[in-house]
Amino acid sequence: MNLVFDLHTHTTMSGHAYCTLLENIQCARDNGLQAYGISEHAPAMPGTVSEMYFINFKVIPKEVYGVKIFCGVEANIIDYDGNIDCSKLICDRVDYMIASMHSHCIEAGTMAQNTSAIIGAMENPLIKVIGHPDDSRYPLDYDAVVQAAVRTGTLIELNNSSLHPLSARKNGVENIKTLIGKCVEYGAKMIVNSDAHFCFDVGDFTAMSALLDEMEVPESLVVNTDISGLDYVLNKK
Ligand SMILES: [Zn+2]
Ligand SMILES: [Zn+2]
Repeated sequence: MNLVFDLHTHTTMSGHAYCTLLENIQCARDNGLQAYGISEHAPAMPGTVSEMYFINFKVIPKEVYGVKIFCGVEANIIDYDGNIDCSKLICDRVDYMIASMHSHCIEAGTMAQNTSAIIGAMENPLIKVIGHPDDSRYPLDYDAVVQAAVRTGTLIELNNSSLHPLSARKNGVENIKTLIGKCVEYGAKMIVNSDAHFCFDVGDFTAMSALLDEMEVPESLVVNTDISGLDYVLNKK
């Protein structure tokens, strides 16, 4: 499956990624992407940017090396109601918001608690994507999550990094297969992202693309098969 944008990436600003924004964009171009998004971890993540980082996005060109550039955030879900760590200042300045559960920002709860956290975040009209809901450290009721994704118009992320054998997330491959199956069953839209923490991974969707082909997933359910799929992330849901 050919995928033309990558909206979940990190730079040195995160404190635990190792390339610059420009290096990421160069790799986005080299990997054939039409659009690239930077989505730095929001302030609750240790070592990441402060609120100040988000207020000067205006200096970043809208297009670099022929690649359209978008400025987002990966918000941290901080409680089981699905609240996030982004002030109004951040929300007002980003092009899009991903929300995810991270071990540094929320303790893993029961399946019911984790599911409540994810669905609560989906109810937030600003959150367009749920990042890496594929980690057995945070067990989820996938039927409930995917049905809520359809109801709220939120995208389910298929995170290429979760397929990597060194990923800290548990059972990524099995959980992603389950998620894809449920998304096809309920007609939920998916977005493939790299979650790159090194530039060579930006736009490299080799593993996920192979899995999607193997599972014969319709292209119409994967929003980044066409540049028009950006509308699901940039427009109101
Ligand atoms: Zn990270
Ligand atoms: Zn994350």
